[in-house]
Amino acid sequence: EAAEWSLLEMVPNKLFINGRWEEAEERLTFDVKDPATGRVLSSIADASPADAIRALDAAVAAQDSWAATSPRVRSEILRRAFELVIRHTDELALLMTLEMGKPLAEAKGEVAYGAEFLRWFSEEAVRISGRYGVNPEGTGHMIVSEHPVGPCYFITPWNFPLAMATRKIAPALAAGCTVVIKPAELTPLTTLFLASILEQAGLPMGVVNVITTTRAAAISEPVIADPRLRKLSFTGSTPVGRRLLSQAADNVLRVSMELGGNAPFLVFEDADLDLAVEGAMLAKFRNIGQACTAANRFIVHQSVAKEFEHRVTERVQNMRVGRGTEKGVDIGPLIDQRAVSKAQALVADALGRGARVLTGGREVAGEGCFIEPTVVTDVPLGSSLLSEEIFGPILAISTFESEEEAVALANSTEFGLVSYVFTQDLARGHRMITQLETGMMGLNAGVVSNAAAPFGGVKQSGLGREGGVEGIHEFLTTKYTLVPVS
Ligand code: ADP
Repeated sequence: EAAEWSLLEMVPNKLFINGRWEEAEERLTFDVKDPATGRVLSSIADASPADAIRALDAAVAAQDSWAATSPRVRSEILRRAFELVIRHTDELALLMTLEMGKPLAEAKGEVAYGAEFLRWFSEEAVRISGRYGVNPEGTGHMIVSEHPVGPCYFITPWNFPLAMATRKIAPALAAGCTVVIKPAELTPLTTLFLASILEQAGLPMGVVNVITTTRAAAISEPVIADPRLRKLSFTGSTPVGRRLLSQAADNVLRVSMELGGNAPFLVFEDADLDLAVEGAMLAKFRNIGQACTAANRFIVHQSVAKEFEHRVTERVQNMRVGRGTEKGVDIGPLIDQRAVSKAQALVADALGRGARVLTGGREVAGEGCFIEPTVVTDVPLGSSLLSEEIFGPILAISTFESEEEAVALANSTEFGLVSYVFTQDLARGHRMITQLETGMMGLNAGVVSNAAAPFGGVKQSGLGREGGVEGIHEFLTTKYTLVPVS
C-alpha cells in the first residue's frame, strides 16, 4: 500500500507539452481508477482541443531540428530510454497493474516487451538507407532516399499501456519524426511516466508531447484536420479506426491502424496436445483475454475435441482470480463494468443457441470488475462469441471435420490479425501459411509478439506494421531523384 502511494506520487499528473509539465486549459482534471477496487489512483489534467493544438505546435516546431539530429544521437537517446525503462521495471509494472489490472508478473513481461521497441529502434535508427541505380536506358542515375514523414499523432488503447506507446514512439523517433500522443483515458499514467523517462533520457523538448483527456474525439478531430500533421497511428477498436480513417482522408494523411482481431486457434488431429493446451492458455488468458491478439475462436478437430476440452477445463479451474498485485493471481479484473456485461452477454447468447459451459461463466461478487475464467463448448455458428472480439477470459470451442472446413471457418470473419495453428504436419503448416487470411501466425505457438517482427493485420484488422524492419518505414517517406548522365 505505502509503496503504491509513493509510486503514484512520483507519476506526473499534467500534460507534457514542449518539454514542460502543464495544467490543462481551465485547470480541468479527471480521475484515474483502479479497476480491481474502484479507488481513485490519481487526478490528472484533462486536455482541451486548444491544449491538443498547443501540443501539435510543439511537435511541429521541433520537427526540423529533430530530423536534422544525427541518427547516432537519436539512437543513443532511445538506447538510454530503453535502459531507464528496464531500470524502472518494478515501478512501471506496478503502475500498469494499478491502472489496468493485469497480474504483476504479466505487467513485468510487458515492461520487457515494451522496452524492447526502444532498443530495437535505437538499433534501426542508424540503418535507414535508400538505394542508387542506373536507369534501364543508361541515361540517368536514380537516387532513392528516405526521409521522416513529419509530425505524428498517436492514439493508444488501455490494454497494453506501455508497449502500445513505445511501439509507436520508438520507430517515430528513430525515423526523425516528432510526436503528439494521446493515451487511453482509462490508463494514462504509464504514458506520463514514460514521458518523464524520455525526458531523463535527454529527448529534446517538443519531440514527444503527451495529452491526457476524457474528450478523445473532440481533441483528436482538430489535430487530424490540421494541415501540419503528416501521420496518424491508432491502436484500438475497428469502429473508431474507421472513423479516424475517414477523418484522415481529408488531408490524405499517412495512417497506421492496428484494429480488432478475431483470432482462430486451430487444433488439428495431428497436433501435439500438450503444446496446444499450453498455447491455448497463453493465447486466451494472457492480459485477462484483453488483447487484440487473444485467441477468440478455438476450432478443434472433432477427434481430439473431448481431450482438448477436458485438459483446458482442468487448467482453467486451477486459475486464481484476484487483484493483480496479489501473489499467484492469474486473472485480474476486466477494465470496467461494461466489459463484464459484454462478456456475460456473449456467453448468454451462445448458451441460448445450445452451447454448454464447462467451467466458470459468472461474474465474481464484490468490489471490482471480475469475471470467472470460462470454458464454453459446442458453440454453434451464428453465436456472437464467434463473430465479436470477446476481450475477456472466455475460451469458446467449436469443432471441425476436414482441413478445408477448418480453413473456411478460420477465414469467415472480416478480421485478419493473427491465427494460431497447432499441427505436427509440416506440409499442412505450410498450407496454412498460404491459406489463412491473417497478418501474423503462430505455428505451434500461443504468443507471437516480438519487437523484431512486423505486427499487424489484413482485412479490417488494419493497415501497416509495427515492429521489425518494416516498423520504421511507416515513418519514412521515399524520395526519388534523377540525375541525367552527361
Ligand atoms: P476500446 O474499446 O479498447 O476502449 P477504443 O477504440 O474505444 O477501444 O479506444 C482506443 C483509443 O481510441 C483510446 O485512446 C480512446 O480514447 C480513443 N478514441 C475512442 N474514440 C475516439 C474517437 N472518436 N476519436 C479519437 N479517439 C478515440
